[in-house]
Amino acid sequence: MLIKLSLSQIASLCGGVLIGEDQVIKGVVTDTRKINGGCLFVAIKGERFDGHDYAQSAMDQGAIAVLSEKDISVSSYIRVASTVAAYGRIANAIREAFTGPVVAITGSNGKTTVKDWLAQSLDEKNVLKTRANLNNQIGVPQTLLELTGDHDAAVIEAGTSFPGEIKKLAEIIRADVVILTNASGSHFEGFGSLEGIAVEKGELISAARATATIILNADDAYFDYWKTLANQRRVCSFGFTESADLYAHDLVLEAESSRATFTYQGESVAVYVSGAGRHLVANGMAVVLALMALGMSLKDAVAKLAQPVQVPGRMERLLTKNKALLINDCYNASPTSVEAAIDVLAMQKVEKTWLVLGALGELGAQQDEIHKALGEYAQQKGISCLISVGPIAGLAAQAFRANGGEAIFCQTHNEAASVVQALNKAHAILVKGSRSSKMENVVNILTL
Ligand code: ATP
Ligand code: MG
Repeated sequence: MLIKLSLSQIASLCGGVLIGEDQVIKGVVTDTRKINGGCLFVAIKGERFDGHDYAQSAMDQGAIAVLSEKDISVSSYIRVASTVAAYGRIANAIREAFTGPVVAITGSNGKTTVKDWLAQSLDEKNVLKTRANLNNQIGVPQTLLELTGDHDAAVIEAGTSFPGEIKKLAEIIRADVVILTNASGSHFEGFGSLEGIAVEKGELISAARATATIILNADDAYFDYWKTLANQRRVCSFGFTESADLYAHDLVLEAESSRATFTYQGESVAVYVSGAGRHLVANGMAVVLALMALGMSLKDAVAKLAQPVQVPGRMERLLTKNKALLINDCYNASPTSVEAAIDVLAMQKVEKTWLVLGALGELGAQQDEIHKALGEYAQQKGISCLISVGPIAGLAAQAFRANGGEAIFCQTHNEAASVVQALNKAHAILVKGSRSSKMENVVNILTL
């Protein structure tokens, strides 16, 4: 741990009561499988398990106390109203003791891409970053608690699945640099509208440090709104519009890379972005602004974009057993990211392009309409064939067919995989769907 914390300090930090002897803790753990001697075990009530049921077992394994929401019969515990909130408070105490810069990233799309790209671009430094997609009320504290004196910077992803979550995360992270990639129509369910999403994302700005740099997307409909939330904090914008502080123009989008010119305060540099798609250029601009906020020159920052960012399951270029190009983008899907993926698929120089689509989740009442619109979009972009998996994605296939395209309706991952299994290198297949659609099953069949 970055600083020494005692049980009594933690109790006062979290507005809790310590029952038992005061001791200094060696770590904070929420998972009994990760208990190390001298740690504090945080009992969290999840959907399937209640950590309180494992309190004694945690003590038996070497924990010195339990953070608990109820009175329990172990020798030492801290009783608090909410263990999740208390976990966040402890993580914030660690973060406040950290003297390096802390970057926080939110937005509807591109968080993990920007996070990984930025972290790898600070390669001469020892960067702590969110592992995988641990971007919620448990993942963010867990990451910050890993800070040590050896770290030079932290890059933290903040996600949201209910209104108010980003505010909580923002107060834990208290960022020095905020990146807000965009607001688009994902996760409508809990937020009601796009505006609800924009308000939620904006909370990351309001709780940033007063000295923070706020990096915003000038092309986003909510840019002006987010700017007002920055108050006296420095705002840096990126976009494809000339009014942005960092402005990308003269784009050449190719199948595996992009070229552009970036102009920042009158200075223009040629840019090579490893990876396909206009959206990646936008993400790259956000990365460049963050690197510059951390002291890098425009030229050096831009050069980092030539290093590909490879996140498993996101626009990952693979080959099937029969050597067809397989673009594995099945990690997750929102309407905007499906469009971005279709754009990239349409750019591939092959005889035939195949979109294998699973359902998009969390769209609320707009579900049907959005799937139909995606089918139309794919058809307009010239995708050769749309293969849907399941009835909801089937709505996209219907619209694709209604607009003159060839559509195949499948019910299972196996069925969809068998349709494309024999394709050779003259074909490109893109597999995408929401997390809940588990489209990686198709990818696994095609590659394993
Ligand atoms: P999650 O909410 O699942 O954590 P995320 O915001 O971390 O998502 P990524 O994992 O970086 O986003 O990317 C998810 C998908 O969105 C990928 O399919 C990617 O191609 C697409 N994507 C990435 N950046 C953008 C962007 N700026 N605009 C639109 N789509 C994007
Ligand atoms: Mg993510």
